[in-house]
Amino acid sequence: MKNLYPYFSQNPLDRLDQVRYDYDDFLELIKAKGSLFLLFDASDILVDEKNKKTFFTYENIEEYNLNKEDIVLLGRFENVNYFTISVQNKQIKELNKISLREFVNFDYINEDKLGILAQACSVLNWHNSHKFCSSCGKQTIIKRAGWKRDCPSCKKEHFPRVDSVVIMLVTFGDYCLIGQGVNFKENRYSCLAGYVESGETLEDAAKRELFEEAGIIGYEVEYMFSQPWPFPSTLMVGMRMKAASQELKLDKKEIADAIWVHKNDMRKVLNGSCEYDFSIPSKIAIARNLLEVWVNE
Ligand SMILES: [Zn+2]
Repeated sequence: MKNLYPYFSQNPLDRLDQVRYDYDDFLELIKAKGSLFLLFDASDILVDEKNKKTFFTYENIEEYNLNKEDIVLLGRFENVNYFTISVQNKQIKELNKISLREFVNFDYINEDKLGILAQACSVLNWHNSHKFCSSCGKQTIIKRAGWKRDCPSCKKEHFPRVDSVVIMLVTFGDYCLIGQGVNFKENRYSCLAGYVESGETLEDAAKRELFEEAGIIGYEVEYMFSQPWPFPSTLMVGMRMKAASQELKLDKKEIADAIWVHKNDMRKVLNGSCEYDFSIPSKIAIARNLLEVWVNE
């Protein structure tokens, strides 16, 4: 079966947790021959388009005058150490900024390594929004090779957080439910989704979101697969469940429309047919993987 791996879900790095605890080891790795660096400005990746280059050397980091204190260790693969650093609004004249969502459509990096980019973008997005302590408001400092921030004032430790979102393949016989969020572009439909709340299991979150958004009771809820989604720091959790009925009662604050689509029709849409008045997300989205698994069953 194709597309079992959502985009960004494959990451070959050994994250080298043991190195994070020793600053001298970390510095040694940074300067080691062959170490490579990814550069981000929020969710834009910096690219040397002329040379089709995305990974830069330590010499480049010095040349671009980036603050080395902000380097984050990503891990190691095939004896190469990988790091990332935020350029924070700085322009580097040899490099272009490309949205990471767009970048995956280029063939710079094989799909089986795109998870490295998601890891980098996600952890840097967390750093960018945690420069100040949530307890006392003072400035925090980067620690543990970029996997922690400490507050020198109140001593609180901060760790990178990931927000979980459940996204659901909801079926009733040979039909599946897709919805149009109020902010979606015209004709775009996707699987229903929502954030997991405090004190909630993935299964309960999926059932709650389905009931809130579509007024439908779900059952036989199962986990399928997940996808790191670094916009800014999310984990998309693909779930499936059966619907007790097809009668929709939409929450119009969130869902503009929802439709039941027969498996044969969905298969045609996935294969590129334009004869329908709805479209589904591009290959980058886990929603597409969920639907593809279903039509291929
Ligand atoms: Zn503090």
